[in-house]
Amino acid sequence: MNRRQFLKDASTAGIFFSSCGACARRAFAQSSAPKRRQVTVGGQRVRTIDIHAHVIIPEATALMGVNTAPTDASVIAPKRFETMDEWGMDMQALSINANWYSIDRNVATKMIQVQNEALAALCAKYPDRFVAFASVALQFPELAAEQLEEGIKKHNLRGAAIGGHVNGDELSNPKFDPFWKKAEELGCLIFMHPQGIPEMDKRLAGRGGLTNVIGNPLETTIFLSHLIFDGTLDKFPGLKICAAHGGGYLPSYAARSDYGCVRFAGDCKALKKKPTEYLKQLYFDSMVFTPEGLRHLVAESGVSQIMIGTDYPFPWSTTTVDHVLNTPGLTDTDKRAILGGNAAKLLKI
Ligand SMILES: [Zn+2]
Repeated sequence: MNRRQFLKDASTAGIFFSSCGACARRAFAQSSAPKRRQVTVGGQRVRTIDIHAHVIIPEATALMGVNTAPTDASVIAPKRFETMDEWGMDMQALSINANWYSIDRNVATKMIQVQNEALAALCAKYPDRFVAFASVALQFPELAAEQLEEGIKKHNLRGAAIGGHVNGDELSNPKFDPFWKKAEELGCLIFMHPQGIPEMDKRLAGRGGLTNVIGNPLETTIFLSHLIFDGTLDKFPGLKICAAHGGGYLPSYAARSDYGCVRFAGDCKALKKKPTEYLKQLYFDSMVFTPEGLRHLVAESGVSQIMIGTDYPFPWSTTTVDHVLNTPGLTDTDKRAILGGNAAKLLKI
């Protein structure tokens, strides 16, 4: 059995390498993996940073009684390094999708602790390949604020990953203010990732994967719109929020929000600026697939607000770097910023 066959069998058998960095590196070095793509812009090497990359920590989800059936792509295993190298991703900012907002305080406390310690250990083991966002139990906003602070100060994590609502409550609800206040005070990035809209499952059932294809960007659009219209972004103007999937539908139909303020003027009286102007203080990943999509996102938000995101290990796009390199109208400086410069600054890399 050669090493490649062993790795293949090991992954089939559910053996994974999250606890053995040296093994992973050794196995990787000896496999016939593709060479690491070195991304350059204008002859200058760029350190690429993927803001949207998933991981699971099986021992943490087990505490919730959930068997996550880890694959060699979902944990830190040779497969991940191979793919990163092939795609030209020097670093991933790891996040875990929040599926723990309905669990009780004791389990949530323990689970988040295990999760954040494991993320910290991964980042410490591979400091040139990973940083990570802390997980937080947002159903307990004060606790979430403490977990964020501990994640940053004790575990060297670079922000937090959150969902788009908490059991149906919008994150603009003032009960979440302690979390937003802490995030603003720490100056860290909050990465928001949607998980669909369960209330719409019936409408979105059937062909096309619509619960994901439409449900996810729609949830992001709703999340961001509430933060804008309910005044959360005015209350905490220093917040740094990055929305997955290019911000969902909001940037592509943003002007309607401004015209909403003509149509429903009373609702916007308290806002400090026009709804579209808030897009220039929000951050987005580049997952809009086409050069025209990226050109438009830049036009709405500005180059400084965009970072590459692959959605690893989900097979949406393998050409994230080329998408940026091939978008007309971007200068070399713009490309460097989107490919890694913006993320390096925000994530303090
Ligand atoms: Zn994702």
